[in-house]
Amino acid sequence: MPTNLYRFRLFAASLLIAFLGTFSAAEAKRASQGSESATIVIDAGHGGYDRGGIPGQRIAEKDMTLDVAQRLKRVLAASGCRVVMTRDSDVFVSLGERVAIANSYPNALFVCIHFNSANRMGAGGIETYFYSRDSLPLASAVHYFVAGGAPSSNRGVRRRGYYVLRKTNIPAVLVECGFLTNPTEAAYAQTASYRQKLAEEIAAGVRGRNTVTSALTTTRVATGESIPLQPYLDQTKVAKSDRHRSKRSHKKSARRKKKSSKPAGSEAKAGSKDQEG
Ligand SMILES: [Zn+2]
Repeated sequence: MPTNLYRFRLFAASLLIAFLGTFSAAEAKRASQGSESATIVIDAGHGGYDRGGIPGQRIAEKDMTLDVAQRLKRVLAASGCRVVMTRDSDVFVSLGERVAIANSYPNALFVCIHFNSANRMGAGGIETYFYSRDSLPLASAVHYFVAGGAPSSNRGVRRRGYYVLRKTNIPAVLVECGFLTNPTEAAYAQTASYRQKLAEEIAAGVRGRNTVTSALTTTRVATGESIPLQPYLDQTKVAKSDRHRSKRSHKKSARRKKKSSKPAGSEAKAGSKDQEG
């Protein structure tokens, strides 16, 4: 009996090893395919007469997004990716055109680059948006690297129906690379070395999209279930008294905000600008 049990254990162990071997080989193949031959459509937010950000903002968001996008293009091209830019200069490209470009590459990935802004100077941090479930591994991986490599706070992976995320048929993410209205984050964004770092972290996320979610179990990596679709509320404009309350009161204050008679544009700039961020 003990001998049989031993044999069975040996058999089970060898089966497990064989299975794991096959699994990791398949994973490795998938990962390498992903990084070598992928097409990445890079979307630099805003452009032309659309500066991005909020009215009166000193640093034009459109310039920062284009610079990071062009750096990302070079980093990804150097690692063997095919790269398509929705814009490669300071021109206006409509959201419809951006989506059409993305959807003309059915096996591609779509990466939108944005910077955040808020009327409250203290608002800061990195956030990454996705909409379709297929986009979550890419969003988690990109966010993991960008938020991990940035000195800014981690505002998390969020699900929201931005036009470019909703209308694209391929995995699509939108990275908010920090707040240009936050003095510290704006100072970082204005240095070439930091924009290069952002590009390299985004590229690392693109390359790691098949491995980050499966390899990590930390709370930094989101699961589809943990991220409900978020309403268009400006989460940067929480009054001081609200911030000291418990998280449970958040819903209440959100409802109160909705009831306010202010137009949507003054509450949340995202809602007023083609839902683009
Ligand atoms: Zn933007």
